[in-house]
Parts: sequence; C-alpha cells; structure tokens
Amino acid sequence: MDCIFCNVAAKSLPATIVYEDGEILAFNDIHAKAPVHILVIPKEHIRSIAHLEADHAGEIARIIYAAKRIAAARGLAGYKLIFNVGRDSGQMVDHLHLHLLGGWAKPEDREKTFSI
Ligand code: AMP
Ligand code: ZN
Repeated sequence: MDCIFCNVAAKSLPATIVYEDGEILAFNDIHAKAPVHILVIPKEHIRSIAHLEADHAGEIARIIYAAKRIAAARGLAGYKLIFNVGRDSGQMVDHLHLHLLGGWAKPEDREKTFSI
C-alpha cells in the first residue's frame, strides 16, 4: 500500500488520531499551518473531490459533520474547512482529506476583540 493516508487509516503509519468511526478518521496534520490543524479522511481510498461518485455523498457529509463536532469539542470560535482538489490547488496527498484549521482565537478573546 503506497498511499500515506491509507497507511494512517490502517494504523501502519503513526498519527495523532483525534476522532475515528467505522468510515472516518481524523488526525493532526504533521506540519500544522494553524494552532489546530486536523485532517479528516474517509478510510476508503478516494483520490480527491474530483473523483467522487454519487454513492460517496454520505461519506462526504459525514466528514464535514465530523469536522463540525471536532471543532465544537475543541471550542473553536471559528474555523476554515478546506478541500484541495488537484495539484494546481496544492493537493499533495492523493487520498481525499478535509483540512480543519482554527484555534487562532478562543471564544473569550473574540468577545474582548469585538466589544467596544
Ligand atoms: P494537501 O496539500 O491538501 O494534499 O495536504 C496534505 C497534508 O497532509 C499536508 O498539510 C501535510 O502536512 C499533511 N501530511 C502529510 N503526511 C502526513 C502524515 N504522515 N501525517 C499527518 N499529516 C500528514
Ligand atoms: Zn489512500
């Protein structure tokens, strides 16, 4: 198996796993680009959003819903959800993954920033 994220899903490559169910895995990005940077993947190998078939719709919905629950559990005040699709976008790992980026501000900081 030469896919990095298939190996993470199979537990043959170590990762800091933050969420797992039968179909989905979420783990810390090894080169975090935000205070919280988590990747949410389907355990099934799907190359990218560009390779989705109609029967993948449920998996995509569950990936986004997992990201929402992880963000809520972390108390993130706001966050970005990003799918890179293809090399031109910067996709380097050919196993579909959702980037969850956040943690720049805590909810209490946000209150401070916006109250005048
Ligand atoms: P992308 O550029 O959208 O393909 O994003 C791939 C992401 O995977 C990058 O942010 C990498 O830092 C991350 N990454 C690559 N290898 C690993 C790994 N073994 N464990 C965790 N994250 C990884
Ligand atoms: Zn894979």
